[in-house]
Amino acid sequence: MSAPFMLERIGGMAKDPISENKILRHRLDEFIAEARKNERKMRRFQSLELKLIGLSSVQDLIEAILAPDYATFRWDEVSLILLDPEYEIQRALEEENVDLSSMPHLMFASDSDDLSTHYQMSLFPTLGAYRARQHAQLFPARRRAPGSVALLPLVRQGKLIGSLNIGSYSAERFVRGVRTDFFEHLSAIVSICLENAVNIERLKRQGLTDTLTAINNRRFFDQRLEEEVGLAKRNKRLLSCMLLDVDLFKKVNDTYGHPVGDLVLRDVAALIRAQMRGSDVLSRYGGEEFAALLSQASEEEALEVAERIRESIEQHIFSVDGHADFSVTISIGVTTFNPAQNGEAAMGVPGEYLVGQADKALYDAKANGRNRVESSGELVIT
Ligand code: GH3
Ligand code: MG
Ligand code: MG
Repeated sequence: MSAPFMLERIGGMAKDPISENKILRHRLDEFIAEARKNERKMRRFQSLELKLIGLSSVQDLIEAILAPDYATFRWDEVSLILLDPEYEIQRALEEENVDLSSMPHLMFASDSDDLSTHYQMSLFPTLGAYRARQHAQLFPARRRAPGSVALLPLVRQGKLIGSLNIGSYSAERFVRGVRTDFFEHLSAIVSICLENAVNIERLKRQGLTDTLTAINNRRFFDQRLEEEVGLAKRNKRLLSCMLLDVDLFKKVNDTYGHPVGDLVLRDVAALIRAQMRGSDVLSRYGGEEFAALLSQASEEEALEVAERIRESIEQHIFSVDGHADFSVTISIGVTTFNPAQNGEAAMGVPGEYLVGQADKALYDAKANGRNRVESSGELVIT
């Protein structure tokens, strides 16, 4: 508001120049206070945004988004929905050992329609009263129902990729019609940061994923092997290792052709994966050979998993156009590392020793007739 305009307006209210001056001062103080408030708000948003820009892992980013300094922002409830139709983000988080069930404020949508229902009018932040019917599902882990909400659409290339949902217990906190510049800026930053982190993750995965079977490759396995062995030693935890090799696979190729062999390998990988925990490591180790690490699994538990895998493959019927149905079998070698045994000597065991022992057990499984599980038992280190 310009000064002459204010004078004009207050002209009718106060006649003498002293009162006029007092009113003007008061107004000016109000403007200054408002400007200071906005500046503080800008700094709050800026510091959150700078923090987000500095993070590149999906996990760190999501954690920072979900845990802003609630007190300074006066946000009481924050939740995040991410579009993840291919389970890409969820898998990346699980591989970082994030327990998704312990993060109820983080949700995933497999379909963009699930998101767009909240932004039917426009892809701009929506502020207003909390309505249970519309908003309850956005705050499933709320301590109590918010009085008002601010829904921030996360958008990249004109498409919704998620929604950042903020709730306040005060009904007056987020009201329809006020300017949303800060929120627009924040949602743009959050969107770009998320897209960037997911892209980095994708690139990392490409180098560590086998293109045929879509499970991890040997490079990934070798990295994780050392990490898992290190963890087992530090925490005196069991670690089981498994090598799995498809039986007489050459014959599958010879009989049905190489492309059918490829299909078989892809299904075998999926069948193995289906019997393992999400946190277990499974890789294509080479040709028709797979390697797995089962953290905190005893010999007995690993043998149980191996037997389940063996059975599920034996029972699977492959139906390929132009060929009669057929099945394949797999042989599995298991070994278990128990760092609580073998005293100090256990600390010097390298990961490749485990793989070597599992390979010997696999050799026994082949020698004893294939379609079998053999174990080297718990490692005895001499
Ligand atoms: P064993 O029971 O002793 O393991 O017999 P095997 O025939 O499975 O073993 P061998 O090592 O003689 O043959 C493995 C075959 O796997 C040979 C190779 O052509 C085939 N193979 C390796 N990688 C691939 C692949 O990516 N696709 C297909 N189709 N075949 C593959
Ligand atoms: Mg084989
Ligand atoms: Mg082989």
